[in-house]
Amino acid sequence: MATEGRRRESHLLEEAGSPRRGSALVARATATREPHDSYTTDEALALMVDLDLTTAQYNSMRLSAVERGCQLYPAFKKVAKAKAMCLPRSEAISVLPGEAKVELQPLLDHTAARLVQLQGPVLESLADAAPIHLTLYCKWGMDGSSGHSQYKQAGVRHDDQLFATTLVPLRLQTQRGVVVWNNATPSSTRFCRPVRLQLAKETKDLTERELQRVHSQISDLQPYRMPAAVIHYELTMSMVDGKTVNVATGTASSQRCSMCGLTLKRFNDLEAVAVQPVTNLQYGLSTLHCWLRSFDCLLHLSYRLPAAQDTTEHRQQRRKEVQEAFRSRMGLRVDEPRAGGSGNSNDGNTARRAFRSPADFAACTGVDEQLISRMGTILQAVSCFHRLDTTALAKYCEETAELYVRLYGQHPMSTTVHKLLTHSAAVVDSCHLPIGTMSEEAAEAANKRLRQYRLRHTRKDSRVHTMSDLLGYMMVASDPLVSSLGLQRRRRLYSSRHGRLQPETLALLAEPQSAEPEASAEVEESDHGSSDGSSGSSTE
Ligand SMILES: [Zn+2]
Repeated sequence: MATEGRRRESHLLEEAGSPRRGSALVARATATREPHDSYTTDEALALMVDLDLTTAQYNSMRLSAVERGCQLYPAFKKVAKAKAMCLPRSEAISVLPGEAKVELQPLLDHTAARLVQLQGPVLESLADAAPIHLTLYCKWGMDGSSGHSQYKQAGVRHDDQLFATTLVPLRLQTQRGVVVWNNATPSSTRFCRPVRLQLAKETKDLTERELQRVHSQISDLQPYRMPAAVIHYELTMSMVDGKTVNVATGTASSQRCSMCGLTLKRFNDLEAVAVQPVTNLQYGLSTLHCWLRSFDCLLHLSYRLPAAQDTTEHRQQRRKEVQEAFRSRMGLRVDEPRAGGSGNSNDGNTARRAFRSPADFAACTGVDEQLISRMGTILQAVSCFHRLDTTALAKYCEETAELYVRLYGQHPMSTTVHKLLTHSAAVVDSCHLPIGTMSEEAAEAANKRLRQYRLRHTRKDSRVHTMSDLLGYMMVASDPLVSSLGLQRRRRLYSSRHGRLQPETLALLAEPQSAEPEASAEVEESDHGSSDGSSGSSTE
């Protein structure tokens, strides 16, 4: 094979090296060129975002096609017009050196208008009396991230930290429940719309102020009236991590459950937990953090095993052994400090892979295999985009919690594991859409995208330019119409990265599904998605 390849290569070199035969090659290629469909301006824009092309790269690509007599790509001037269509009216956007924001009402109106434009034929086929009343369901949330590039610009203090408020449209449906548009990739950044980007450190105070601001804008929202449709909005704050939920619910400690009010010490007392009244279900489960924290919980449990020998030295020794076992047996780096100092190497992909092989996970940690397998099943169920059978889920979770207490009763489960095992069925019940679609993964992945956009797609000559370009580019990259082009290709690309639903998980679904891969689960690298700065696929 290798010699064959080399021979062909040298043959090609020979052909290319000869001027006479070279021109013959070009002539042959020109003669056999198929007629082509040129890109529309929207398609060209989608291609630019998909491939992360700068204007200069696009122009150079276009020029090389033109030189070959191929008008495949429209001029950038035309693409720029399509780009402008992705922005709400300019009065809605305000930019300061340290922040850029867009008012919620115009942002939602623009999103709705683009979706109606995209799904025009579907709306016409409904044959309801115009205007049709539709509801646009969205999730929103906020998250801080660090490690952004610092530029030589005067002014703001925390310019390597960004606090982003974002929103993802999930579903557009009629009041009779007919789905007009459904977001097939609710965890993708490609539908994650920026509401406000601030160069600031995430603090309790900042989170509180932003919560208040957005809540007051939500309560003032008016339906959007178009000739064909009237669109009502329904927003859920579920793209949040435990920290933000605690601020929103006034929960003072991370060791206290924001739903039932119990603390760490009592989580293993299942009888007390069962009779506790439950509130604050609307914030969802933060499924990405469920994966991370459940993995952490079992990891820390394994450091304390066996219980009779539990001392600080023993724990440190166990930690080294477990790390070495994960590295040699599964090729995973676990619980190692990250470069830059924030967090550790445990990320979504590490956790997903560990839970996918309960036997290996158990062999590395010494934790009971059945417990690992059951927790993996629950995690997979609450992350998938299908409706769940809450009775079956509640029973399965209860049995798993009993198993945990029976095996490791002296080690209290962590707050997240407690929420997952005791409250997930109630959360699923209270949620209008499948719980997996409410995940905060899109916002976490957006942090990574924002770093890349800020570096590649903004002017650096002033802070105001950097911020306004960043907001503008994110608006384009998350435009529902642009993001729907090439969606099938992106879904194919990512479907291979997400495992099939396990038979145990299938048994928890409300409607039977085949064990096909979750094609719609677009797993992106988030801040918790890459352990070592290399691509996420290395950990998959
Ligand atoms: Zn609780």
